[in-house]
Amino acid sequence: MDAEIIAVGTELLMGELVDSNSAFLASEFPKLGISLKIAVKIGDDLGDLVNGLESALKRSDVVITTGGLGPTSDDLTRESIARYFNEDMEVDPGLLKTLEENFSRRGTKMPKTNIKQATLIPSAISLPNPRGTAPGWFVSKASKIVIAMPGPPMELNPMWKTHVAPKLASLSEGVAISTRTLKTFGRSEGELDELLSDLFGQENPYLGIYSKQDGIHLRAIAKSPIYSEADSLINEIEAQIIEKVGNDFIWGTDDDTPPEVATNLLSTKGLTLCVTESYTGGTVCSLLSECELYEKVFLKGAIKSPGSLPVVDYVEPQPTCDETCQADIHLNVSPLLVKENDGGNSFGDVSIKIESQNYATQLSGRYRMRNIRMRQRASNHALIELIKFIKSNY
Ligand code: ATP
Repeated sequence: MDAEIIAVGTELLMGELVDSNSAFLASEFPKLGISLKIAVKIGDDLGDLVNGLESALKRSDVVITTGGLGPTSDDLTRESIARYFNEDMEVDPGLLKTLEENFSRRGTKMPKTNIKQATLIPSAISLPNPRGTAPGWFVSKASKIVIAMPGPPMELNPMWKTHVAPKLASLSEGVAISTRTLKTFGRSEGELDELLSDLFGQENPYLGIYSKQDGIHLRAIAKSPIYSEADSLINEIEAQIIEKVGNDFIWGTDDDTPPEVATNLLSTKGLTLCVTESYTGGTVCSLLSECELYEKVFLKGAIKSPGSLPVVDYVEPQPTCDETCQADIHLNVSPLLVKENDGGNSFGDVSIKIESQNYATQLSGRYRMRNIRMRQRASNHALIELIKFIKSNY
């Protein structure tokens, strides 16, 4: 099935907003066997939106829009779909009731402008949006499908997972899809490319390689008329990848994140953690604090100023914490060596030191200083080393 994405909003064209919704959808499509043909951004203009829909639906069977479902006069996605299909928007009593209840729960009266969020056209069914006021639309007419979803990612992502993906999956009848992502760290993209060269060429299962903040991801997608067959294709390729890449370089699968895997492991082994960060400035603790088991495993954290960063000189990492600390494992992330380059940007080696009563490990990675993306990357690196430390010692 071919599909296109239209990300709606003048903010996107002005460079004020990065279109992460299209990136999210593009990464979800292959799991459903959908090929993304074209993704565009269109401003809040009715004529442009109708033209955009017309061109997209000439080429593809499915068009997904994101954004422009708000209550204001420049939110025109619904209007453009109604005009394209030549249907009238009408208020749906059920949707209106839900919307009014939504406002009264928050203790406010619904402004009149919001009424258009309770409208439908005859060919549309509504897609519930528990996180916001704008329901989505699923429109099916003359073998074409248009799906309108809200702009905020925290509304779009659950709507996609709960309502849209299952509907689209049921349309690809006769094709079962199984996917597996293996998350690696410590091998370069070039190395992985070489190690897995024979697997990259094949069509089914298809293997993709993606560089991310938490390492390099290998995603396999298998198709078959029967799900169990697709699943065994995935299990076979997974075993081949593990053998070629090495288990030590794979820290997680599918939806795993470094902080989730680390806190789950700490909790399973009954261990507690203390973190001292001077390079990452609190990012490691912040990532951990989003995990469900954080309070169970996290004893304390400290952000220490690296002081005046040493230039071209090795220093000892700062002490992890004082002697009274009761944590089982101490993780310390601090700069070791800093160099100035010509552009005034400094980069250097960052030490990741992990200690417990009986075991210790220290390694370093090269990162640019004072750069938020690099700090996030180093934080993930530190947590992945923590995962390895626990797996090999406990
Ligand atoms: P609302 O009902 O909140 O107005 P909406 O469906 O009308 O939602 P927009 O008004 O277009 O959506 O955008 C609302 C917010 O959603 C934007 O300010 C932005 O934060 C986020 N957003 C919109 N489009 C995108 C996109 N393509 N990628 C990432 N975020 C987006």
